[in-house]
Amino acid sequence: MSKTIAAVATGNSVSGIGVIRISGDNAIEIAQRVFKAMDGTPLTQLKGYTAKYGNVYCHGESFDNAVALVFRNPKSYTGEDVVELSVHGGIFIVEKTLEAVFAAGAVPAQAGEFTKRAFLNGKIDLTQAEGVAALISAQGQEAARASFNLLQGSLSNKISSVMEELINCSASMAAWVDYPDEEIEDLQEDRLKEILLNAKQSLNNLLKNYENGIVMTQGVDTAIVGRPNAGKSTLMNMLSGTEKSIVTHIEGTTRDIVENSVRLGNMVLHLSDTAGIRESEDVVESIGIKKALEKINSASLILAVFDSSCRLNDDDRMIIDACKGKPCVAVINKTDLDSKIDLDIINKEFEKAVFISAKNNEGARELEQAVKELLGVENFDSSQPILANKRQKLCVSNAYEHICKALDGAETGITYDAINVMIDSAIDELLSLTGKKATEEVVNNIFSRFCVGK
Ligand code: GDP
Repeated sequence: MSKTIAAVATGNSVSGIGVIRISGDNAIEIAQRVFKAMDGTPLTQLKGYTAKYGNVYCHGESFDNAVALVFRNPKSYTGEDVVELSVHGGIFIVEKTLEAVFAAGAVPAQAGEFTKRAFLNGKIDLTQAEGVAALISAQGQEAARASFNLLQGSLSNKISSVMEELINCSASMAAWVDYPDEEIEDLQEDRLKEILLNAKQSLNNLLKNYENGIVMTQGVDTAIVGRPNAGKSTLMNMLSGTEKSIVTHIEGTTRDIVENSVRLGNMVLHLSDTAGIRESEDVVESIGIKKALEKINSASLILAVFDSSCRLNDDDRMIIDACKGKPCVAVINKTDLDSKIDLDIINKEFEKAVFISAKNNEGARELEQAVKELLGVENFDSSQPILANKRQKLCVSNAYEHICKALDGAETGITYDAINVMIDSAIDELLSLTGKKATEEVVNNIFSRFCVGK
């Protein structure tokens, strides 16, 4: 018998309603001890998917109106009996209801325990559980869509179809090897190669799309660099729509790195507005500049900002040099002023250049397009299955390696026995991906990253 767990399922803030979720064999009895329906019907008599309006009680005294929603196992999120109590969303009321539920016999849920139970009860596989985590933390349209597809089982379905072919193939080979005297239909060599080739292609497509998926779902680590007064902070403010970076006309205002995540179209950029790069005597500013140069080396995307109303100076040239060979877009700012910038140099040194007026909020679309082209994600299709994290990628790339070896083996004519070992290793990797063969440590690690209540 599993312990009955409870936690607040909604955010820890004042809101219209707050939901306390209870799951486990005694969920309905426990909820019944703290909740009384207005019409007197005990929750224990309710069918699944039924709601009752009533009051919640602590020490026999009612303290709020509530709605109790009953789910019967296995038709619930966790696959167990579940009751969700919706009370008014004041922090005190929500906490008080949770305390009452604990006093009635539930224990506090661990981080991710509801989703872990859904996994252990076979409601979802590991990739879908990771889809839940990704969906909760999604910051943009593409991230939300791709995570929802993961949750809906897009990756699981893709992997299942690859695995089914491999398992059939492995079973026929094993039978043929183990019972050579029986009349078992021989697995034709051509058919074997075809199956391996298909598996290789499907896995390779997933791997190829991994980096794009990460960019679109997790965002891009981005550095905004440029000489003092080029308009870095104004650009950052334009993208974030807030006044996070202080904008002034006194050079050297942005002394340290200001970090912020912003949306550029349907992508998320994790921005660092670095100190203006220039030779500096000021100690504090020098530290900022050192950090800015380091950031150029570590960022996945650099937005190098230039003031189009001035000719390029030594500071600009220093930036151009520092950005060489890096994934960089030249952002020519202040197009509302007369242009004096040496465009031929910019065009020669940068693969992509866009014109904006950060002050007038112009050019975001062009910037988005240039960034997407530079990162190669302009054709990203979030409806296709994607690998959402390093764990998933590692399983698929290990499976891919085993399939490549098996295919090489089939080409060079090694025994079916040996090929089968490689195919089985690939299947094992795919089973760990979906969680059917994942170790307890891997499973615990995944769910420990969830929030309590999910
Ligand atoms: P930073 O030192 O690179 O961060 O530059 P700031 O963002 O602080 O901008 C320096 C000055 O340039 C400020 O006075 C801004 O208002 C001005 N500025 C920024 N962008 C534009 C623009 O697109 N057009 C014009 N005319 N001025 C701008």
